[in-house]
Amino acid sequence: MSQTTHPSHQRPCGWNSWLPERQARPILHGQCEADVVIIGAGYTGFAAANAWQQARPEDRIKILEADRVGEGSPGRNSGFMLEIALANDARPQELERMEKLNALSRQTMALLRERVEQLGINCQLERSGTYRAARSAIGQRALSQYEDFLKAAGLPYQTLNGSQLSERIGTRYYTQGVFSPDCYLVQPAALIVGLADSLGEGVELHEHSPATQIVPDGKRWRVNTPEGEVIAKQVILANNAFSRALGADNSRLSAIYTYAAITRPLAPADRQHIAATTWGLLPAHRLGCTLRTTADGRLMIRSRYSYEHEADNTRIETQLKASLEARYPELTPVRFDHVWGGTTGLTYNGAPLWGEIQPNLYVSAGCNGGGIVKGTYLGDAIARYALGQPVEDIASLFGKASWMPPDPVRRLGFYLASEVERRKAKQET
Ligand SMILES: Cc1cc2nc3c(=O)[nH]c(=O)nc-3n(C[C@H](O)[C@H](O)[C@H](O)COP(=O)(O)OP(=O)(O)OC[C@H]3O[C@@H](n4cnc5c(N)ncnc54)[C@H](O)[C@@H]3O)c2cc1C
Repeated sequence: MSQTTHPSHQRPCGWNSWLPERQARPILHGQCEADVVIIGAGYTGFAAANAWQQARPEDRIKILEADRVGEGSPGRNSGFMLEIALANDARPQELERMEKLNALSRQTMALLRERVEQLGINCQLERSGTYRAARSAIGQRALSQYEDFLKAAGLPYQTLNGSQLSERIGTRYYTQGVFSPDCYLVQPAALIVGLADSLGEGVELHEHSPATQIVPDGKRWRVNTPEGEVIAKQVILANNAFSRALGADNSRLSAIYTYAAITRPLAPADRQHIAATTWGLLPAHRLGCTLRTTADGRLMIRSRYSYEHEADNTRIETQLKASLEARYPELTPVRFDHVWGGTTGLTYNGAPLWGEIQPNLYVSAGCNGGGIVKGTYLGDAIARYALGQPVEDIASLFGKASWMPPDPVRRLGFYLASEVERRKAKQET
């Protein structure tokens, strides 16, 4: 079955709707040449472009982006930037590897923060830390595994009971929680737009220019878009799960959609109780809800998954409302300003799809839901690798994306596994 070459979304991204109008970079028209083409203007693609430009300032670097920056996948996320490993990656029994990953995340986060400060990107970046919380026994088990990891790695954290959590985030829904200071929150669309608008002079970005095909042309690559073509010696696929349509290994990567909704600004009394500060909560159980507040006193919720296709956003809206109302019954009926879906690149074992797939054709994809920091690190590394510079051993640090059966077995597996998990962890969703 042929893959979709780029995502399209049912509804606009809430975060992007609040940004000032900006002039999109021109569509790619006609034929041109470049030294390197980077497909995808996300965290991975921009990190690759910056690393390339730093190493080879004289090179012509082109970035092709299918959508308008801010409206595409990188602007659609929840804005958690972890300085330590994700809960799903955290394995206390592999402490040495985890410590290296934590150090890399911290370094990458520090570079991103420096960039934001130097470039004056107004993206509400704040080191707010993050809560993880659980209501049921299955969630509590996941939480205590995460606590084991934090303890083993010597990382700071606080355990909280239900009423302590309630004092901080205004809900009595959860029975147990952990607070870790090692996380920033950001307005993601503002961050990605700020990064796009501060690219160096040698980097040319084309928005609304999806790469539809990549074909060899002698020793070079010909990249087609609906209205143009670039010929380049090297190509980097930084377009996450959609890289499969352009040559990345379909047997190791899937597109998973997940969904977010943001309320209107809360009424002053609710705001005082729930959203007086910027805080974020990640689920202890992987099928649980992410929650956070925004700088202007709204609540955001992220939950639900679908395999390869965006689910009907109207149905998702009802589900997200029910989850938020269960946590904040005083807000009933919840009123959302925006509901939207976005994609993540999922691999079975959580390891990225990373490396050279054909001579001078590279991929860095599959951040499994934590790609702001991880994508930035891996994007920088893939550019250095393509340039022949020394790079850390990515496979031994992050693992190698493992094989998955093709559809329909894969689709069935996803639905069965998520249905069984969802039933078991009903109170966490
Ligand atoms: C609702 C939601 C919440 C999330 N929350 C978080 C979070 O809090 N923290 C976190 O770290 N991660 C989160 N994620 C995941 C995170 O957004 C991704 O891991 C991250 O964006 C991956 O970065 P990337 O640059 O590798 O890929 P992407 O962000 O997917 O960027 C790829 C870019 O390539 C473009 N593209 C695709 N195909 C083509 C093509 N053929 N031609 C040209 N351009 C193309 C896309 O439009 C996109 O702009 C969330 C995701 C979603 C959907």
